[in-house]
Amino acid sequence: MEKPQLAIIIPCYNEELCIENTVNKLFLVINDLISKGKVREDSYLYLIDDGSKDSTWSIIEKLHGENKLVKGLKFLRNYGNQKAILAGLEGARNIGCDCVVSIDADLQQDEWAIEKFIDEYQKGFDVVLGIRNNRKTDSFLKKYTALAFYKTMNLLGAHIPPNHSDYRLISKRALDILEMYPEKLLFLRGFFHEVGLKSTSVYFDVKPRMAGESKFNYASLMALALNGITSYSIVPLRMVAVLGFFMALIGFCVGLETVIEKIFWHNSPSGWATIVVLLSVFGGIQLFCLGIIGEYVGQLYKEVKARPRYIKDIELI
Ligand code: UDP
Ligand code: MG
Repeated sequence: MEKPQLAIIIPCYNEELCIENTVNKLFLVINDLISKGKVREDSYLYLIDDGSKDSTWSIIEKLHGENKLVKGLKFLRNYGNQKAILAGLEGARNIGCDCVVSIDADLQQDEWAIEKFIDEYQKGFDVVLGIRNNRKTDSFLKKYTALAFYKTMNLLGAHIPPNHSDYRLISKRALDILEMYPEKLLFLRGFFHEVGLKSTSVYFDVKPRMAGESKFNYASLMALALNGITSYSIVPLRMVAVLGFFMALIGFCVGLETVIEKIFWHNSPSGWATIVVLLSVFGGIQLFCLGIIGEYVGQLYKEVKARPRYIKDIELI
């Protein structure tokens, strides 16, 4: 196979403390790959500034001025890391490349694993997923909520590879397929797994964040997880229907029993506690089910409006 032109895309949000170091380290990797004859000399970095409020963009401009192999895109505002990765993939496809690797700006993922990604690509894989060896750098809560998320997703029928973040290689072919999916709230981790291209995984070590702090809090992780579920599974909706059916059945039986008691035994209602318990339990279940349906309605609402995924401000190619 011919040497591929590699594009490395990096979403950046307020990463002024990391970005220059990251770019230098990634060039060490690219130059190593070039010297080994594994990628083309015009392989490049593409940094997507997700509406940073610090000096991230001016650093990207400076780096671009020094070396045209550092390319950049600036969003009008902050759209979130998934949109930044998506813009990176679309941008790299437009600029031209044979394969793209996405990696975080804080280089928590071991950048030297990129060589393994390329080796797998050369074997004919269109998608190479980076899987972390451990979660030592994560807090106790993050680790277990993440594991619970993967378990839930798998139970719901959306097969998402556990311990895969957005560190992955995808081929030009996968990029072309991505273009055919117009959905606005694309959940990339599920997408590349679902499309059915030939895929494999590479294991890598996770490092602590280079500098600065994590841009994700539990609310944004929760939003990502919910999007993942509602994008790839309608099992919760079915569960609601099944649950509703059984609840109705129970309600019918209890109702029947009450009526029979009333007619034949003339029992005046003594089950006050039962009523209160049932009311609150059913009330709770109904609200919960409404909430689940609401998540999907919300997803529909956002898709139907078909707003642009992101708006570009400045591009440096
Ligand atoms: N990021 C982004 N937009 C955001 C939040 C984060 O582009 O709104 C980027 C961030 O700059 C980094 C990557 O997404 O390159 C992962 O973020 P972070 O390292 O803060 O997350 P963590 O590793 O703690 O999950
Ligand atoms: Mg990080």
